[in-house]
Amino acid sequence: MSVMQQPVQIMLPKGAGRSSTMTSNIERRPWLRYVLAVVMTSFYVCVYWFPSALDVLTHLLDGFSHLLRGRPADAWFLYGTIYTLAVVLFGARTLMRNGHERYHRYRTVVLVVVQCIAAYLIPAMLVRIGRGEFYFSYFWPLKPEYLFPSSLTQMMQSHDALMTFAAWWSIVLLLIATPLLTYFYGKRWYCSWVCGCGALAETVGDDLRHLSSTSQRSWTLERWTIYPILGIITIITILLWQQHVNPNPELSSIVGHTNRIYGFVIGGLFSGVIGVGFYPIFGARIWCRFGCPMAAILGILQKYASRFRIEVNTGQCISCGNCSTYCEMGIDVRSYAERGETIKRASCVGCGVCSTVCPRGVLRVTSDE
Ligand code: SF4
Ligand code: SF4
Repeated sequence: MSVMQQPVQIMLPKGAGRSSTMTSNIERRPWLRYVLAVVMTSFYVCVYWFPSALDVLTHLLDGFSHLLRGRPADAWFLYGTIYTLAVVLFGARTLMRNGHERYHRYRTVVLVVVQCIAAYLIPAMLVRIGRGEFYFSYFWPLKPEYLFPSSLTQMMQSHDALMTFAAWWSIVLLLIATPLLTYFYGKRWYCSWVCGCGALAETVGDDLRHLSSTSQRSWTLERWTIYPILGIITIITILLWQQHVNPNPELSSIVGHTNRIYGFVIGGLFSGVIGVGFYPIFGARIWCRFGCPMAAILGILQKYASRFRIEVNTGQCISCGNCSTYCEMGIDVRSYAERGETIKRASCVGCGVCSTVCPRGVLRVTSDE
C-alpha cells in the first residue's frame, strides 16, 4: 500500500471544488490544525468533566432550553445545540459543494434532518414531557446502555407506551433492520446517512478528509482497536445480563466497574474528546475508523454479507490519487483502481466522495445485483 498524505488535487470534476476550501487554508497554515484541536479538545473536556467552566455559555441558552425542554440549560444541552448547529451550517456548505450529485444531495439532507429531529428535538421533547432522554438514531453497541438489562427492563416495565416502544425500537433496529439494511446497502445506510458521528464528519469534517492516513500501519492499528472494543462491550453486555439473571455480588461489582471504565475511556475519552477534538490532526473519522463498535459490526456484515461494493472501471485510472487523498477512512482506493480490483472493505462508509473526485469516472459505489 502506498502512503498518500498530501492532497494532489488535480483535475477535480466540476462541483467537487475542494481546492478553494479550508483544506488549502489548513495546508497553508498547519499550526491552525493544532490550535483547532486544542480548542475542540478543551471544549469536550469541559463538557464531560468540568461543565461549570461553561456556565456563562450554557446560561445563554436557558430561555431556549426552557422553551424546548421545560428546564434550564446544562452543558450537554449546550453541546447538543452547538453540535446540531454545526451540522446544519456545514451541511449547507457540503450541499453547495457536492449537491450537484443526487447521492450527496440526498444523504446530506437526510443526515442533517436525522441529527435535528432524532438526535436533538425528540430527546429534548421527551425531557419536556417527563420521560428520559432517548435517541432513536443510536443503537447498541454505539449506545450500549440501550441493550443493558437495567435500562431495557426499566423501559419495558414502565407501563409507558412510548418507553416500551423505544425499547422495542432498539431491539428491532439492531437485530432485524441492521442486518437487512446492511445486506442491501452496506454500512453506509447508517454511517453516512443516519449516525450523528457520521453527520459531524461529513459536514464539519469534510475539509479534513485528506488527513486520514492510508498507511498500512494505520490499517493494522485500525483492526487492532476497533474489533477488541466491540469484543469488550459485547462481553460486558453478556455479563450484565448474566448477572441480571443470576446475580453474584462480587462478579456484579467487577462487571459494573468494568462498564464504568469502558464508559470513561471509550464512551467519553475516545468517542468524544479524541474522536472529535483530534479532527484537525487525524481527520474526521478517527472514532468511526479506530473505535466505533457499531462500525465494527456493520463492517463485518458489509464485508461478508452485503451487496455493497465499489466497482472499478478497469484500465481508466490515471493514478492521480484523488480518491485515496479524499477517502476519510484512509482506504488507498487508488491501489485498487490501478489493479482494477472491486473494493469491498469493511471500513468503507460508502460516502461516495472517492467516486465524486475521480476525474476519469473510474469508481462506482453500488449495491446493485
Ligand atoms: S466511499 Fe470511497 S471515499 Fe468513502 S469511505 Fe468508501 S472508499 Fe473511502
Ligand atoms: S481511481 Fe484513479 S483516476 Fe480516479 S481518482 Fe483514483 S487514482 Fe485518480
